[in-house]
Amino acid sequence: MLIGQGFDAHRFAPGRRLVLGGVEIPHDQGLIAHSDGDVLIHALCDALLGAAGLGDIGRHFPDTDAAYAGIDSRILLRRVVASLAERSLGVHNADLTIIAQRPKLSPYIPAMSRTLAEDLGCEASRVNVKATTMEEMGFTGRGEGIAASAAVLLTER
Ligand code: MG
Repeated sequence: MLIGQGFDAHRFAPGRRLVLGGVEIPHDQGLIAHSDGDVLIHALCDALLGAAGLGDIGRHFPDTDAAYAGIDSRILLRRVVASLAERSLGVHNADLTIIAQRPKLSPYIPAMSRTLAEDLGCEASRVNVKATTMEEMGFTGRGEGIAASAAVLLTER
C-alpha cells in the first residue's frame, strides 16, 4: 500500500463558477486558477501523484501550458488515475477536507463523493469528503479563498 497527501488553495474572484469536487456550487464568486479552479480535485491529484512517487500536478499539467486553460479538473483527475492504472495502482480510499468559511457546503458533499468516486474507479463510500471552517481566522476565514487537503491510500492491482 502507498499513502499520499495533497494540499491546495485558491483565491476567490467575482464572475467565476465555483466548482468543488467536480460539482458546481451556486455562489457569488468562484476560484481563480489556470484551470476551472477545483481546489479539491487539485489537492486530490497531488495526493495520488505523491503516493505513486510521480511528483505533483504542476509537473504534469503546467499552468504555463495553454492546453490547460480553463480545463475541467475532472479531466486532469482522470489522467492521473489512468497513469496510476498503467503502474497497476488503484485507489483504496480517499479522505478529503475542504476549508471554507462560505458557502455552506454540506448539501453538496454526497454529490462530490459520487462524482470523485466515478473518476477514481472506486465506491463512493471509499471517498470521504468533509468541509470545515477556520472559525473566521486566516485567509479562508476572511472569505478570501478556499483551501483543500487530501489523503489517499493506493493498492497494487
Ligand atoms: Mg490548484
